[in-house]
Amino acid sequence: MDPIPLVVVGTVAYDTIRTPMGAVSEALGGSATYFSLAAALFTRVGLVAAVGEDFRDEDRQLLVDRGVDITGLQTYPGESFRWVGEYHGALDEAHTLETRLNVLTQFDPVLPPTYRAPEVLFLAAIDPELQLRVLDRLERRPRLVACDTRDFWIEHTRPALLRVLERVDCVLINEGEARLLAGDHNVVRAAQAIRRWGSFDLIIKRGGYGALLFQDASVFAIPAYPLEDVVDTTGAGDSFAGGFLGALLREPTRVRKALVLGNVVASFTVEDFSVRRLATLTWSEVWRRYLEFRDVVRLEDL
Ligand code: AMP
Repeated sequence: MDPIPLVVVGTVAYDTIRTPMGAVSEALGGSATYFSLAAALFTRVGLVAAVGEDFRDEDRQLLVDRGVDITGLQTYPGESFRWVGEYHGALDEAHTLETRLNVLTQFDPVLPPTYRAPEVLFLAAIDPELQLRVLDRLERRPRLVACDTRDFWIEHTRPALLRVLERVDCVLINEGEARLLAGDHNVVRAAQAIRRWGSFDLIIKRGGYGALLFQDASVFAIPAYPLEDVVDTTGAGDSFAGGFLGALLREPTRVRKALVLGNVVASFTVEDFSVRRLATLTWSEVWRRYLEFRDVVRLEDL
């Protein structure tokens, strides 16, 4: 069997979400789910995650149908990870009402043989101790290791998270998490503080305001794709990361193009609840919106 080029470790979850546009209960979610569905538009992606015996066959099938390799999806006795959250106003910030770790407390992320030498590894939001364990289980260091986290892990497992930051090439977090991590409300100062914990490029996702890339001494900013109807922003960050790293794997030197493609994939995710939009998204839809986005940000020559 060929090695899998892009591997993600993270959560596969059942989410209960309320937004001003409606609500869903026990809908498929999780950081690794959104990431892998987005990345599968670009490349072969393998998912390492834990689910409980309650994980639905139709959800497993959806991942397979979309081309995600689920050899690394492990089933444990008990219930899948659950997250309950809500959004207000412009849906820029998720408010966690409940996090039930369930099978995550037993999860030992075993890497199937084809997952041990990926070109790119994404440590999606999950317990940083598990992110570290995955790094220790690789046969060789990937060309690129990137990570994300969430408020929950910043608050509960900060020392382990700082050890993860020392070992990655790229960190993707949202603005609220950057502020929480750095203890500074100014996003540029927060970025500077966070970058002192390692030697990585930093991408700060700013919801409806786009994203910032801090790389070496430069900053690159992109706006969000202007959308009329935003239904549920859950998973936007992970879809962004999936599109970004999937595109970067195909064209390693085109970081800005990859960022825009990540942004475009995320813009589809937020058009519906859960993974509904990602479940039907096609490459030609992504490409069409990418071309539109280029027009949106085109500057006149000086
Ligand atoms: P985001 O892309 O940041 O909106 O992440 C969305 C997903 O994160 C949801 O589908 C949740 O199931 C998942 N999630 C919520 N809390 C956590 C957590 N503490 N660790 C990992 N994933 C989480």
